[in-house]
Amino acid sequence: MIVFNPDYYFRPDEKRVFIINKGHSHQSTHGWSSIVHSLHAIVFSAFQNNEPWDTVVERLSGFLEKPKIDVETLLQPFVENEENVYVEQGGHQFKIPKKILIQSEQPITYERVFKTEDFLFKESDYETERYLHAPLNITFMPTNRCLTDCLYCYADKKHKMGTPIPFNRLLEIMDEAKDLGVLDFNVVGGETFCYPQWQPLLAEIKKRNFRMMRPSTKTPLTEEDMDYLTSIGIKEIQVSLDSLDALTEQHLVRVDENYVSRIMQTLRCLKGKGFDIQIATVLTRFNDSVENLEAMFRFFKEIQVDSWNLTPGFESLYKAAHSFMSSRVALNKVRDFVERIKGETRMRISFSDTFFDREYGKVEDGSRNFKGARCSGLYSHFFILPEGKVTVCEQLYWKPEFIIGDLNKQSIVEVWHSDKVNELLNLKPRDLKPSSPCSTCEIFDSCFSNLNRCWAEILKAYGDENWDYPDPRCAKAPKMKNNLQFV
Ligand code: SF4
Ligand code: SF4
Repeated sequence: MIVFNPDYYFRPDEKRVFIINKGHSHQSTHGWSSIVHSLHAIVFSAFQNNEPWDTVVERLSGFLEKPKIDVETLLQPFVENEENVYVEQGGHQFKIPKKILIQSEQPITYERVFKTEDFLFKESDYETERYLHAPLNITFMPTNRCLTDCLYCYADKKHKMGTPIPFNRLLEIMDEAKDLGVLDFNVVGGETFCYPQWQPLLAEIKKRNFRMMRPSTKTPLTEEDMDYLTSIGIKEIQVSLDSLDALTEQHLVRVDENYVSRIMQTLRCLKGKGFDIQIATVLTRFNDSVENLEAMFRFFKEIQVDSWNLTPGFESLYKAAHSFMSSRVALNKVRDFVERIKGETRMRISFSDTFFDREYGKVEDGSRNFKGARCSGLYSHFFILPEGKVTVCEQLYWKPEFIIGDLNKQSIVEVWHSDKVNELLNLKPRDLKPSSPCSTCEIFDSCFSNLNRCWAEILKAYGDENWDYPDPRCAKAPKMKNNLQFV
């Protein structure tokens, strides 16, 4: 039987449909997201009913008003396709991911089976990249409390949290998100395990089958915590650890002298209970020596840690980094070290050097070509603060200029279409200070409409009052008041 690959799902989006990847058990393309023509969605969704090939072809033949033989010819490139398929429809080019229709011996259960009507829109828009109806991904920060006080923390810890959003309201938001086809519902801290309702929170997210990043912690967990996570189907966890040396760790994250041994015990116990463990290490000049990292690596190998991510600590909006930032020389040595040990282990090890070399002041042709991950703010993602207010991006926290709504009073869709969102999306040169090079830039429209300027970096480089300045990666950006470059 030929079926629609259940690793993908359809996300109707007001004037078009997205095909999105949400799993990878059927050789699909991990992380895929592309706009397809309604006709493609109608044709592929016809294979969600676990029917014989002939039955589906016959139905499509009636719908498309084409002979069966022509429908079969049309479908052939999408059956067990090993490569992406490029198709033209109505004057637009579309990219269809690999393995869109696959052979299956077993019937497939889909979360939602679509009907033709789900893909019929009054108007079409195959150009706008931003998700039109609602975000694709949501992150919730239940608390800004932590058990540690990290030297390199980039969070706004000074903000005095107001009344947390009621848990029942959170459940309604999750239900709305599910109906809207939100893919990821993530939880980040502060420390998730400091949130009094962390257990039902994680359980409700799992119950709704959202994709979710593994919980991340710096807390030595109890066996009960681990067993609870197991009981709700969470077997992957991230533990942050910067050194095995008690004094270094005390200095970096302000903990007592027993902290390292308790975290080491937590890691052993997690492994004993079958968890997939990822370690996150922030590199500063206090822990970036190869000796420190060698000692960590030996221990991680011994207890069979599954992956290890190393990231340089960076300047944040709430803390200056000059006192702890690693030097380029040290980071180059870390890079060499990582390359060397990769060959010695099955552990997945990554060294994130995107902050390290951002090409500040070099990009000539606007935000589409800025180096680094694409900005998700206003494009595909929003961030819920503990009280229920919504901001464009995690790093901007409670900055009022970027608060786009309040989920205590508004739905997800209302926030995604709020006045503040429209204001930020439709900025014009006249809205900017004349001193900003963006206000006279000849490629303003394409640069701003690509939604890939990093607000957080602009604020870090030029101060809150200069939110309308160029992204510091732009060649027209003035000299940074606060240098973000690693030296
Ligand atoms: S000056 Fe501003 S609008 Fe022009 S390319 Fe640079 S960031 Fe974009
Ligand atoms: S504003 Fe910057 S930090 Fe925030 S999501 Fe966009 S690129 Fe990332």
